[in-house]
Amino acid sequence: MKEKRAAKTISLLLFCLLSLNPLRVHAQERFDPDIDAKIFKEATTNSQIMRTLHYLADVYGPRLTGSPNLKAADDWAIMEMKKWSLSNAHLEPWDFGHPGWINERAYGHIIAPVEDSLTFKVLAWTPSTNGVVTAQVYQMILPAKPTQEELGTYFDHIKDKIKGKIIFAGKPIVRPVNLTPPTTRFNDEELRPNFDPNAKPAPEASPVPTPTPKAGQLDARTANASIDKFLRDNDALVRVNDAGRPYGQIRAFDNETFDLAKAVPTIVLRNEDYGRISRLLADGLAVSLEIFIRNRVFPEGITAFNAIAEIPGTDKRDEVIILGAHMDSWHSATGATDNAIGCAMMMEALRILKAIGVHPRRTIRVALWSGEEEGLLGSQAYVKEHYGSFENPKPDYFKLDGYFNIDTGTGRARAMWVFGPPEAAIPLREAVGPFAYLGMAGANNFRGREPGSSDNTSFSQAGLPGIRLVQDPIDYGYTWHTNLDTYERVIEEDAKKSAIVIAATVYRLAMRDDSLPRFKREEMPPLPTPSP
Ligand SMILES: [Zn+2]
Repeated sequence: MKEKRAAKTISLLLFCLLSLNPLRVHAQERFDPDIDAKIFKEATTNSQIMRTLHYLADVYGPRLTGSPNLKAADDWAIMEMKKWSLSNAHLEPWDFGHPGWINERAYGHIIAPVEDSLTFKVLAWTPSTNGVVTAQVYQMILPAKPTQEELGTYFDHIKDKIKGKIIFAGKPIVRPVNLTPPTTRFNDEELRPNFDPNAKPAPEASPVPTPTPKAGQLDARTANASIDKFLRDNDALVRVNDAGRPYGQIRAFDNETFDLAKAVPTIVLRNEDYGRISRLLADGLAVSLEIFIRNRVFPEGITAFNAIAEIPGTDKRDEVIILGAHMDSWHSATGATDNAIGCAMMMEALRILKAIGVHPRRTIRVALWSGEEEGLLGSQAYVKEHYGSFENPKPDYFKLDGYFNIDTGTGRARAMWVFGPPEAAIPLREAVGPFAYLGMAGANNFRGREPGSSDNTSFSQAGLPGIRLVQDPIDYGYTWHTNLDTYERVIEEDAKKSAIVIAATVYRLAMRDDSLPRFKREEMPPLPTPSP
């Protein structure tokens, strides 16, 4: 009894001493040999992925940058991550510079020569119709790849036909039936040689050869803006673009000026409706449509946010590993595969590590970006604010150990590309080695600093170790940016497996003595020269 009490007193004393100096305890944190079993158990018995997806997609989607939906999704994610006891959960503002915009109502019908409903989406940052508009259709047959002069001549020719009409902007796009089914899962044998220790580094991206434009040819953006101006100046009621994709897929992006005064109400009509109406017009029939659009603008959207939370590190706490995905989406559906599921997986990976009680040596942070779809704007702002660039580094530039990005839908994570020298791929390859049974093929390095596909390129552009997760494509070609991007298209098992691999990989990285190898100063690839 006495002995027991003494032991109790000693252990209490020890506990007090240790809790007075948590850093010292944590400094002794060693790699947990049971980590993989713990991660697997937490990921499979307490998964929050589908609940997170449900909130981000069903409750708050779509999440267009600047919209109250996105802000609500961000607020919810922060609240949730606080409930999971993650630290430092907060929103970081950045200057989007445009108001928020949402479409509240939109419907349309063909009312003559037949009656039927139409399937379309509204182009973002365009104005509402003035109530329900009913009008005849006029189809512009625009000159191909015009110069300003050719476009002007065409406009002069048709300008008295525009007022009070619904305008089809161009000929219908013909999409032949595709008889080759796209790949849904990568084949192990094909994937492995690209990511195993013998893999050659990714070839440097060479600029895609574009046909030389004819003298004075307008670029697509300028030509488009000229069409918008012409339609406004001549009192068109609605502009209709062809979605140009099969099976009713619609991708509606934005009025690139973000200025509602520079466009007429604009819809993207499914290719099948656009084609049918074009054929009726070609028969010489008069076609009338009825369209109603109500959009709303939110001035406060000028400030956007990135949502951040973390598990603080111990002896290397000022070194950081970031897991990221973008919270914003396009507005044609609920942005489930692009990229609510990516946010759900990254949040889950951090939740798992917190729940199993690890104390990583480095800080592990999650960052849910905004403005990705408008040009990686949120992650660019974050990198600029916190890290600067290789050419102009801030003090923390050397403290980022790796940025992991996931942004290609629901598919299982299969491999990793890291920006850096070949040595940078080695720790990653070792980290994912135990997960061959979940389909992980390995890791490889790449050198290009072009900004592009997703937020990892905001980091690699700055010379920082941006890491892109390669995923099985599943049906991302159908859901990506389209009206089909919904909760139903997510494969729960794939998302859970990805979260397991991500949690285990970042834990391993966070526990290493050395940080991820970077390019030596003299080896850093130059920034790409901006295209004219
Ligand atoms: Zn995306």
